[in-house]
Amino acid sequence: MTKLDTIKKAEIHVHLEATISPLLCKKLARVNKINIPENIYGNKYAYAWDDFYDFIKKYDIITSVIQTPENYSELTYAYLKQCALENVIYVEAMISSAHAKLKGMPYSLFLEGVSAGAKRAEDDFGIISRYIVNGIRHMGPDSVYNTAKEVLENPHTNIVGFGLAGDELNYPPKLFTKTFDMLKLENFPITVHAGEWDGPENIRNAIRMLHPTRLGHGVRSIEDPSLVQEIIDSDILLEVCPTSNIATKIYSNYKEHPVKKLFESGVKLSVNSDDPPFFNATIGGEYSVMSGLGLSFDQLLSLSKNAIQYSFCDIDTKKILIKELSDLS
Ligand SMILES: [Zn+2]
Repeated sequence: MTKLDTIKKAEIHVHLEATISPLLCKKLARVNKINIPENIYGNKYAYAWDDFYDFIKKYDIITSVIQTPENYSELTYAYLKQCALENVIYVEAMISSAHAKLKGMPYSLFLEGVSAGAKRAEDDFGIISRYIVNGIRHMGPDSVYNTAKEVLENPHTNIVGFGLAGDELNYPPKLFTKTFDMLKLENFPITVHAGEWDGPENIRNAIRMLHPTRLGHGVRSIEDPSLVQEIIDSDILLEVCPTSNIATKIYSNYKEHPVKKLFESGVKLSVNSDDPPFFNATIGGEYSVMSGLGLSFDQLLSLSKNAIQYSFCDIDTKKILIKELSDLS
């Protein structure tokens, strides 16, 4: 066991449906009698895709095999097990009830499936997990609004926040203000993907219009020092996913990626795997990337602390997790 393995880790930016391994994808395709083209499996990454729009297309095809609450349970358990093996103590995963609904799964049954897998993993490995329901930008403002409304009207202990994901370039923050004003009014925790594909202007708009306390990615804030300062002053955490950004060619390598600069400038951030098999990423791998960029053991541990401190879980769970981190260090 290396020193890196001993660091207790936490992940707060991962899309649950996109964690599906090729093995599980093939199994569920067979069980559910869904035709998945063989060329969807890749050489460079576990799945083959060209650019972000092809990625969205392939994502929908691959995740179409997840058809039932039992499938969700199996998927959740499989991912949490993999995380537990990398010494991850907490996962806050994003889930898409809008996608589940397209396959005929009502919200409550969908959550039952996820929760069953989560409980089984917690019983078996001690790993704690909570979930953020995502609105999907390219399904349109009405879909995002209805998704959020359903979340607010059906409180569930495992659902701790609301997120916004999908096509950032064609669906800017201003389209979603009604939804996020409603969430803010209810004091519901918010995270928004911003500053992955689009630049500082969009990040500013996301912060001002959508009331997030965390941003998914946010790395392109580095292009504007006053925005970096605004993020620090507003106490917003960036959920940074270095390997994802390199796979999607936003940056060409880890040295060029701004994560180290952002960390050094005092931005609170965590590192995350985003869509693991699509990028051959793992949460342990992201910590190893940061170690390679020169972060010390204590600095790596601070990433776990940040993830837990800025997570949306309740205060008692947070205390347990923080204690667990400091027990080891
Ligand atoms: Zn993401």
